[in-house]
Amino acid sequence: MAVIIFDFDGTIADTLAAIADITNRLAPLFGYRPADPEKLKSFQNLSTQQLLKQSEISVFKIPFLLRRVKSELRREIQQLNLIPGVGEVLNALAAEEHTLGIVTSNSAENVHLFLKKHNLAELFSFIHTGATLLGKSKVLKRILRRHKLNADQVLYVGDETRDIEAAQKISIRVVAVSWGFNSRQALISKKPDFLIDQPNQLVQIVTQLEGAQCSR
Ligand SMILES: [Mg+2]
Repeated sequence: MAVIIFDFDGTIADTLAAIADITNRLAPLFGYRPADPEKLKSFQNLSTQQLLKQSEISVFKIPFLLRRVKSELRREIQQLNLIPGVGEVLNALAAEEHTLGIVTSNSAENVHLFLKKHNLAELFSFIHTGATLLGKSKVLKRILRRHKLNADQVLYVGDETRDIEAAQKISIRVVAVSWGFNSRQALISKKPDFLIDQPNQLVQIVTQLEGAQCSR
């Protein structure tokens, strides 16, 4: 394995509760109903496309809403936690000289402030921010081309159905993590290559894939 690329929100950073609060606070401004905890829970079973359809938000307003959510998140990003165990896994993978990267829809400022706060910034070789909600596959494809990587050298790690779809679109392996936004059931329905419940399972997967490549 050469390169392990991570999603940020819900995969590395425990930002989902904060994002849900912000999105609810902005409801009157953007013309949708705030979601109660039960409704939020039901959203976790939906694909990104289904969620957008159910959200009552005009598609034209979505880019403006996302920009506003990110700027509100900026105020609290340094108070938010890492997903427990993720820091250790990132350090372990970097120590084994794997190349680590991030592809996210969040802003550069939020990601850099968070990584700096948790002393993780220097572990990442590249960080691509500002991908559109359904535009991660384009970004991933560009990274493969720029770094002259074959699809089988790259692993994408994410917590949402759209992460799985983005990786599958360009035929790279994808690890879905069950500690983020989408439910296990929603993730399974998209058939990721791997589904993990604990961050340290990622180290085992990478070791296993490396072994398989060496024996080819
Ligand atoms: Mg995510």
